[in-house]
Amino acid sequence: MNLFHFTTRRLVSQVYCGLKPASSKKQRTCFEMARPSSSMADFREVFAKAKHIAIITGAGVSAESGVPTFRGAGGYWRKWQAQELATPEAFARNPSRVWEFYHYRRELMMSKHPNPAHTAIAECEARLSKQGRSVVVITQNIDELHRKAGTRHLLEIHGSLFKTRCTSCGTVTANHKSPICPALDGKGAPDPDAEDSQIPVEDLPRCEECNGLLRPHVVWFGETLDSDILTEVEKELEICDLCLVVGTSSIVYPAAMFAPQVSARGVAVAEFNMQSTPATDRFRFHFSGPCGTTLPPALARHETEIIS
Ligand SMILES: [Zn+2]
Repeated sequence: MNLFHFTTRRLVSQVYCGLKPASSKKQRTCFEMARPSSSMADFREVFAKAKHIAIITGAGVSAESGVPTFRGAGGYWRKWQAQELATPEAFARNPSRVWEFYHYRRELMMSKHPNPAHTAIAECEARLSKQGRSVVVITQNIDELHRKAGTRHLLEIHGSLFKTRCTSCGTVTANHKSPICPALDGKGAPDPDAEDSQIPVEDLPRCEECNGLLRPHVVWFGETLDSDILTEVEKELEICDLCLVVGTSSIVYPAAMFAPQVSARGVAVAEFNMQSTPATDRFRFHFSGPCGTTLPPALARHETEIIS
């Protein structure tokens, strides 16, 4: 099953009380019943009682730190978007070009910092762990900003820009070298007329174990998610008693893959996202706005928490 391309799109909006304005009383009632709550006081009550909190984060959290996605309007590296370079076929065809793209992204990330959303999550985890409560972050982001902010229990479902995997022996290694290899030094210019550096494959990053060609340890388009990580995600979602969806919508991938099973158990799901999405009443809370603004007060110390 190709989970990477899983998406529910915006199916929910199509069935959501029709798309007409709520003109009749009946439609209005339906709208009110289906609408998730945006009451912070109610959320805080659920938060105060939660023992195992799962936080699913998406591109929106990284965007607030100025991390480009190379997707959508204006999202180009040279003349390509991520979906053209982040594929096994592109790497097989031109490993030098794909490595230039990832080298550029790695170097760029070294100048980016966690924003208040990352920090609020990391501080919450540290504080709650002293109370015997747990926080796990399940992220599609590959930029390691959660790690930089101090998050310890982290499941990176799409891998990391700062990990490599050997295409011969499969060894996965953390790698924060800058540049990752001498041949890439000063390469990776993003402007549309920059030429391919055409680095010989033997000069690209190589495995220290077997000298095989390394690739970024990220999930590319057309590839499936790592089954060990998925098993861990399932385990966490089975025990969580509160689920936050941050910087993405609970009705689009990746949260759409996970959040419905959580709310099917009757567990509260709270969405923190820029757009107000027409989530169904399966999702209990929605808070609109930049998550760097909405999340810190949501995860701050609750008055019932005992300070140790
Ligand atoms: Zn190897």
